[in-house]
Amino acid sequence: MNQQIYWHTTVEMPGESDLTPLPDKADVAIIGGGFTGLSAARTLAKHGAKVVVLEANTIGWGASSRNGGMVLTGLKLGMDIVLKRYGRDLARRLFQYSLDSVDLVEQIVKEENMDCGFARYGHLLVANKPKQYEALKSEVDFMEREFGHKVKLVPPGELKHEIGSGSYHGGLLDEVSGGLNPAQYVTGLARAAQKAGALLCARARVIKLERSGNRFVIQTERGIVEAGSVLVGTSGYTGNVTRRLQRKIIPIGSFVIATERLSDQLVAELSPKNRMIFDYKHYLNYFRLWDNRMIFGGRAAFFPENDKTIARSAEILRREMVGIYPQLQDAKVEYAWGGTLDFAFDMMTHVGEIDGLHYSLGYAGHGVAMATLSGKTVAEAMLKGNINEHPLAQASFPGAPLGLYDGHPWFLPFAGLWYRFLDLVE
Ligand SMILES: Cc1cc2nc3c(=O)[nH]c(=O)nc-3n(C[C@H](O)[C@H](O)[C@H](O)COP(=O)(O)OP(=O)(O)OC[C@H]3O[C@@H](n4cnc5c(N)ncnc54)[C@H](O)[C@@H]3O)c2cc1C
Repeated sequence: MNQQIYWHTTVEMPGESDLTPLPDKADVAIIGGGFTGLSAARTLAKHGAKVVVLEANTIGWGASSRNGGMVLTGLKLGMDIVLKRYGRDLARRLFQYSLDSVDLVEQIVKEENMDCGFARYGHLLVANKPKQYEALKSEVDFMEREFGHKVKLVPPGELKHEIGSGSYHGGLLDEVSGGLNPAQYVTGLARAAQKAGALLCARARVIKLERSGNRFVIQTERGIVEAGSVLVGTSGYTGNVTRRLQRKIIPIGSFVIATERLSDQLVAELSPKNRMIFDYKHYLNYFRLWDNRMIFGGRAAFFPENDKTIARSAEILRREMVGIYPQLQDAKVEYAWGGTLDFAFDMMTHVGEIDGLHYSLGYAGHGVAMATLSGKTVAEAMLKGNINEHPLAQASFPGAPLGLYDGHPWFLPFAGLWYRFLDLVE
């Protein structure tokens, strides 16, 4: 088994052989070269702004080329919680935002003629326990009544038409969601941003940020850039250059394995409609097919990716996968990798301005579509100077309770145990 990101074998990722020189000055500097940064760069450049993307590694290196490629409606939090917490008006704006985010991915893929396999495959949430299925029953009416959104209940007896596994107790289907190959998508987005006129600078880790009058002086590993404004799109890799933001984001590892190519017959049995599938657990599993491979992810370890957490997670994920699909007992796992998610303490995505810096963070595993839209809409708000009107800027961006967090998530092992416990008893 290779500790390699399978998606990277399907496309030529932006490299570092041709390091774009840093400009001395820019209207906007964007920190982070993933979906957020590239989508924002494309929008700003299209509006005529001089934009530079500063990426510590290579463009697309972060979560954006490592994820499951699920282009999902909704937020990380259930809409019932969002409605209770924020009221009907904001909840409706937020849900609409999530639908717009899927539409935007589709639109960009078309406009930019991207070859990334985007299609509206639909997502399927499967119930691990019968009582979870009971809870799903009320979702159909709730989503229609409150958000005018149609989802379909899949009773246990009909689940075999959706998934070739006997592990689940029914499910909920949302046919608006889609799927794509994330490495191909982020590569396409990078090309689109460049075509619009943005400069994409790899190996340009930002190491210091200072204000000088109404401008920013940004020190990178490759030199200094001066910019009128800055957008932070560093997601789970947010570091101490933006310390106040780092203290609001918990980096959490998520891991993925890819099997060898499977037969057409087996593929048709595992997921006859090629859905984006995930389960109900806190320690959730998510999986889908691509090019006849089962791409199976989960939060097997809570800590971010390194050789050890990837090797351990690969074992755990294989076990989980075979538990769900005994048909894959003999399937060879060819690739295993990990990436880091960004969770805010309230599990919401937040955009706004802090110390004069614009940011868009906290996608909590829902960033393929959301980061694309947030990058675009935050860029537009930067041009108009109205970030406070953004739907994701309406809730305050909380830090840790009692300020007990300095950016090093010491509590993750305890949180991991707690969530395993909840998965047992809930
Ligand atoms: C394993 C995994 C599976 C996932 N599955 C899904 C899924 O199926 N569907 C979904 O919607 N979401 C999923 N996600 C989440 C989604 O991938 C992210 O929300 C999204 O990619 C975030 O994009 P981004 O541009 O904000 O951040 P990233 O793509 O993580 O990019 C941030 C970049 O910032 C750079 N950076 C950090 N510090 C600095 C610095 N000081 N200077 C310069 N650059 C810096 C990093 O090098 C990195 O490249 C998954 C994530 C992971 C890890």
